[in-house]
Amino acid sequence: MTKQLKSYVGGQWVAGNGGWRPLHNPTTGAQIAEASTAGVDMGAAVRYAREHGAGLRSLSFAERGACLAAAAKALHAFRDELLALSTESGGNTRGDAKFDVDGATGTLQYYAKLGERLGEATCFRDGEPLQLARSPRFAGQHVWTPLQGVAVHINAFNFPAWGFAEKAAVAWLAGLPVITKPATSTAVLTVRMVEILAESGALPTGSLSLITGGAGDLLDHLGYQDVLAFTGGSNTALTLRQHPAVLERGCRLNVEADSLNAAVLGPDVDPDSDTFELFVGDVVRDMTQKAGQKCTAIRRVFVPAKRMAAAREALVEALGAIRVGDPALKEVRMGPLASASQLADVREGVARLQKVATPALGDGGRGELVGVNGDEGYFMSPVLLVAEDPRAAIAHDREVFGPVATLLPYKDTAEVGELVGLGQGGLVASIYTDKPAVATEVALALAPHSGRVNIGGEKVAEHSLGPGAVLPMLLHGGPGRAGGGEELGGPRGLQLYLQRTALQGYKPILEKLVADLPSFEAS
Ligand code: NAP
Repeated sequence: MTKQLKSYVGGQWVAGNGGWRPLHNPTTGAQIAEASTAGVDMGAAVRYAREHGAGLRSLSFAERGACLAAAAKALHAFRDELLALSTESGGNTRGDAKFDVDGATGTLQYYAKLGERLGEATCFRDGEPLQLARSPRFAGQHVWTPLQGVAVHINAFNFPAWGFAEKAAVAWLAGLPVITKPATSTAVLTVRMVEILAESGALPTGSLSLITGGAGDLLDHLGYQDVLAFTGGSNTALTLRQHPAVLERGCRLNVEADSLNAAVLGPDVDPDSDTFELFVGDVVRDMTQKAGQKCTAIRRVFVPAKRMAAAREALVEALGAIRVGDPALKEVRMGPLASASQLADVREGVARLQKVATPALGDGGRGELVGVNGDEGYFMSPVLLVAEDPRAAIAHDREVFGPVATLLPYKDTAEVGELVGLGQGGLVASIYTDKPAVATEVALALAPHSGRVNIGGEKVAEHSLGPGAVLPMLLHGGPGRAGGGEELGGPRGLQLYLQRTALQGYKPILEKLVADLPSFEAS
């Protein structure tokens, strides 16, 4: 019998009562579970989290950090099981599974350490006292205190482990209970993680709830002390932005959405250089890691017109060497896409890109597969397209969420900012160069369009993690199409869950009030 996934609400595991949605193993297409939230009382779930999870707020940062450390330890004890589940339920190779699962525990650990450093305080100061009148007695001071509601996290299908943990770690450290809702298609892994955490007792009662399946009327119960943090597609984001909880009741909303991330090869980079090799390696990794289903993956590759042939040749050669197939096999570097609908969406995207670009490798088909039976599973081999017109609209408009990228020529660095900006805002953009002047010009031109700019070159080639890896100490998010949200970024990530308040009054009182509070800058 198919496993029926439950939600964890009100401190209990609760089954849905109909309208089951199937979950599949992407490698075989076989159904592995089903999920439903029909009959789950979302209002009661929110009330329970708000009331019982309030205990987190009274803990110090150090105590909350200790909870995060315990959560990371509990999950790490089940690492092998979680990695195997990631392969079965998400089509991840072992490397891709580690990226997600170890990324989850790593982010929890990072915020655990931050909590330890922040110490016995429960909230933050912001800057120093400001003199407000002629007399220095009357002063102003900003502080940040935790909101008193619940953090609702709605996540995308591609990172069921990291997506859950990176949001939860920050909210918990800020002092808010979490209701997490993974995307249904890959929820199996998150469900298991929540089971482990619930059994471990690592977190105070009420700190964690889970919605497994559709969100139902969850948002109807949110108000101005609550936070809704969303990761997913722009269309869903638009629906959430228009929800009365956000528009009328002031629920805080953070959106992490689509992004056509760009990589730019500098005009100074020769094809036989280390920097060229780094550039090719980053593009190939981003196109094939998690089968390109990464919000930070490079989708547009800008190359000086004179280097188009060399870049195309190197990328085709490197991509052609990637073995695609059963992700459980050691020799396989790229697994299937996560679901049938994802595969159909990517194929449709490739067909649209072909209106303005010519395939240099791949055509949207399965290609040669290792260890896969017949036409089972949701496979697609990497697709590299080449466009002659760098301004062709589709290349900048359609985020094809799979192992697909388009190579585009540019004339000179002065037009790079404008070309990358055609993507209408992204999570990350890269410039590969060894010339400081080029790095400065292009990085500053990319910055207004990007949440993060990666400068690749020979000096960092050995150490660089590439643009695709999201690090807890750096900002994750981007303007425009990317949603305009901000996550992580070390202590600044907590601001989403805190209220900034301007205090004004007698300076010695204000000084005493903030005397033991940490500031974001110092932590
Ligand atoms: P999606 O279809 O927008 O779904 C995302 C989440 O929203 C899922 O949990 C989904 O639940 C839920 N959802 C859908 N409709 C909803 C509604 N009306 N009310 C409340 N929740 C709703 O996106 P996806 O296909 O999972 O993910 C792919 C997209 O995510 C890509 O565009 C990618 O760029 C983006 N992404 C962005 C980032 C980032 O950090 N910027 C990271 C990863 C992915 P169900 O699954 O139950 O429908």
